[in-house]
Amino acid sequence: MVTATGELSNYFQGFDQLPPEQQNYIAESLALWVAAGYIDVLINNKMSAKVGRVNHGGSLADRDNRCVTLCGEELQTELMLFQKFGPLAKIPSRTKGFVEARLNLVAAHEMAHQIYTLLSPDTRAQIDAMHRNRVQRCDQIHPLPDGYDGNAELVTEVQLIERVFLSGYSRSSPEEYFAESLAAFSIKSSREKLKAIDAEIFELMHRLVFEANEMLDSKWHEQIARSQAERKRRQELTDTLLD
Ligand SMILES: [Zn+2]
Repeated sequence: MVTATGELSNYFQGFDQLPPEQQNYIAESLALWVAAGYIDVLINNKMSAKVGRVNHGGSLADRDNRCVTLCGEELQTELMLFQKFGPLAKIPSRTKGFVEARLNLVAAHEMAHQIYTLLSPDTRAQIDAMHRNRVQRCDQIHPLPDGYDGNAELVTEVQLIERVFLSGYSRSSPEEYFAESLAAFSIKSSREKLKAIDAEIFELMHRLVFEANEMLDSKWHEQIARSQAERKRRQELTDTLLD
C-alpha cells in the first residue's frame, strides 16, 4: 500500500518532527484513508490533527472537529500497546472480574470523527440504528455490572469472544461506535476481526471506501469523486486495496 507521507504532513501538523516510530504508526493507520481520498478532502476543508498537551488525557477536538489534538502521552501508550499486542488488546476493567476489549488506533479514531462530519443524514441514521440494536443485545446477553458507571461493553474473560462490539468503547455512543469501527477497519488484522464480530458496520465501512458518494452528504460528492478519481488513476485506490 502506498503511504503518501507528503499528504500526511499536510494533514498532521508537525508530522515530520515526530519520532519515526510515531510517524510509522500514524502513517500505517491512516494509509487506507489517504488512498481512499478522504485525507485529501479533510485537508481541502482545513481539517487537521496534531500531537499536543491534553489536560485530562485522551484526545481533544475543537469546535466542529476542525483540529484534533492527540495527547502525547496517550499516543505513546497506544504505540506501546500496538507494538506489543497489535490493534486490539484486552485490558482489565476497574470493575473486578471484568475485561474490556481496547483498540489501539487513536490517530485513526480521531480522524474518523472528522469523517463523520461528512456523512449524510441517512448514513448517520443507519449507524444510529446499528448501534441501538447492539446496545440492546449487549443489555440482554450481559448487562453492565452493578456499580459500574461507564458506558463501555464490559465482559468476563469467557464472554470476550461473544462480545457484541469489537471494542468496549464502541458501546458509548453512535459517534464512538463509528470512530472505533473506522479505526478498526484501517488495519488488516482488526478489519478481519470487525468483519467477524460486526459484519454490518464492516459493510458500511466498505461502502465508505468504494461507494463514497452513497454515504456522504451531497455537499461533498464532487470533492470525494475528484479525489478518488485521481487516486484510481495513480493506482492507489484499487479493487485490491483491502487484500
Ligand atoms: Zn472518540
